[in-house]
Amino acid sequence: MMQTKNLQGECPHCGRVFEFQAEATGTTAGCPHCGQPTELMPLLPADPESPMPSKAVVFTVIALLILFGGLGGTLWALKRAKRITQHPPVAIGASPPSQPADPFAAAGFRASLVTLEKGQANSLVHAVGTITNTANRQRFAVRVELELQDEAGRKLGTATDYRPTLEPKSTWQFRALVVEKKTVTARIVAIKEDQ
Ligand SMILES: [Zn+2]
Repeated sequence: MMQTKNLQGECPHCGRVFEFQAEATGTTAGCPHCGQPTELMPLLPADPESPMPSKAVVFTVIALLILFGGLGGTLWALKRAKRITQHPPVAIGASPPSQPADPFAAAGFRASLVTLEKGQANSLVHAVGTITNTANRQRFAVRVELELQDEAGRKLGTATDYRPTLEPKSTWQFRALVVEKKTVTARIVAIKEDQ
């Protein structure tokens, strides 16, 4: 006796699933659930010779192509948008990293850029620069705080210098000892005083 294969079909009347023999495909039989005459058609693409599965595959491939094509297009659009939005800040003309014009003006101080000075007799390094008292009053216990950075711009530590008094409109040439050996740049982050 020939090996029979059971397929699953769905009844169009009651919507329930039933099994039937593969040989009976295309014939009409009474639904085992509701008894209505039902054409026996496989629910799942089990028969490789049936045109249904290959059609389904083609549709799936098309759907995937649309999906990925759409995704690619979206990514491309995003990249483009990113490139566009990245432009303006550069175009506006941000100057290369430099000390803001007068960050301590409100406090009545003017700070210079800081340079590193290496001693000749020893290996001591000092961060040097100037701080000007732009106010018309004497300043007391003025302390400058510097942030030390390595080549990669990472913060290594701080250096400070101190001056007990600073006359009105006078300039103080500070020298802050730099302990961190890898220091490449130093910048003033704070100027404090006793009020
Ligand atoms: Zn039925």
